[in-house]
Order: sequence, then C-alpha cells, then structure tokens
Amino acid sequence: MTEPWSPRVTRVLAPNPSPLTLEGTNTFVVAEPSAPAVVVIDPGPADDGHAQAVVSACAGREVELVLLTHTHVDHAEGARAFADRVGAPLAALAPGWASPGAPDLAAGGPVTAAGLELRPVPTPGHAADHCCFELAAERAVFTGDHVLGRGTTVVEWPGGDMADYLVSLRRLLELRPERLYPGHGPLVADAVARVEGYLAHRHGREAQVLDALAAGDRTPAEIVARVYAEVDPSLHPAAELSVRAHLAKLVREGRVATDDGERFVPSAP
Ligand SMILES: [Zn+2]
Repeated sequence: MTEPWSPRVTRVLAPNPSPLTLEGTNTFVVAEPSAPAVVVIDPGPADDGHAQAVVSACAGREVELVLLTHTHVDHAEGARAFADRVGAPLAALAPGWASPGAPDLAAGGPVTAAGLELRPVPTPGHAADHCCFELAAERAVFTGDHVLGRGTTVVEWPGGDMADYLVSLRRLLELRPERLYPGHGPLVADAVARVEGYLAHRHGREAQVLDALAAGDRTPAEIVARVYAEVDPSLHPAAELSVRAHLAKLVREGRVATDDGERFVPSAP
C-alpha cells in the first residue's frame, strides 16, 4: 500500500504484519518534489511484490541512495537486493553493510541526496547499530524502531541496551521534532509528547522492576508474572527479555546485584 505522508515523503507498506511489526514495515521514498532522484529508507523484507511497489512509488525517478535505520530482517532483509536492482549505494551504521562509496553515516554530517539533507542521528538501544534520520526541511525524523507509530518498541536483552536506549530517546527529544516517520505504524504528529511518553513508560517499568525485587521476586520470570500480570501470557517470553534489559542496566548502575545472571537482588543501600 503506497501513501503520500507529506510532499517529500511516500510510505510503502510491506506485507509483513505481526505483533512486533504492527501493520508491516514502512519503507519510505523521500525526495524534494522537484528532484529527479529519490532516497529509499528501509527497503524491508525480501519480498518481490514489495520491492516492485517501492520501484513504482519512485515514479521513474532514479534511486540515488538506500538508507537503513538498522539491520533487523524486517527492515534490511531485502536491502542489498533492492539496492542492486536499482543500482544505488546502500548506507548503514552497521559494519559490513554499506556499499563501497556509500556515505559514511558515522561521520556526523548530513547526507545530501534527492535535493534534500538527511542528517544521520545514531540512536543505539533497540539495536546497537540503530540510526534515525532527521529531515530538517520538515522538522521530521525517520525513527525506524526507535519510536513506533503506536505502542512501544522492544528493547530486548541481549541485543538491545536499555541504558543506551534512554540516552537515545533524550537525543531524539533534543531535536524538538514536529513529526516522526516510524518504521512501523502511522505518522506521529505529536512527536515531542510521544518521545516524552516513551521515557516516562521506561522509567515506570524500571520502577516496577525495582518494586518487584523489593517484594521478593528474584528471577526475570517472577518479575514478569507480577509486572505483566495483565498482559497475554503468549507475550511473556518477549516481556522477559525486556525485563532482562532493565536488569542489565540496573546491575551496571550498581542498583541491583546478580551472581549468575539468573537471580537478582536489590543492592544494599
Ligand atoms: Zn522493525
């Protein structure tokens, strides 16, 4: 499904819906309206029909650059094949993913393509190699899985890092964006409030984990049973990985102790 989200941004929805990907992955075709070329962000899963839909959304314009927010399969599985198909370089923060000659996203400066500037904003947390892209012309940010269009994103131990994630949310907030183009779900029009809500949600969860430990819970499964009591049990394994990400942060901060990574106790004050 192809839908214009702004004069510069077209969303092409990939056919990979799931509890984690919501309606599916959002692939974005981005360009200044007068430009003869486009940038494609997150080509998505390896799916021929989707790749064809993205090419159609380019409307005959050359693809100048393909960008990845991160390398999880739902964003990146089809990226290399898509870049080859359209003859464009692929740029990503993740080592080993960028094509020769692609812009270096870690260099700090904006990437200029398709008549506009996109500034890479490294945002580790959901994944170590996660990168948002700021579109200054719209005070907008492409947020990948850092912030979603609905609900909250997954920060799972061990691939995700909760401490990094919170720092990256504050980094996004500092940009004072007006809208977010997320990797899943609808456009976010109340960008600052949404990011503040994400920060409050994580701080609330952390407080719940500490309360559960204070109440005598010792294992991640015990903490999940208490904190996620009202959540569908089929989601408890994923919740446990999120609780473990919180615990890893608290252990690093010296607020929680563990001998074996399976049983946790509050640190003595
Ligand atoms: Zn995703």
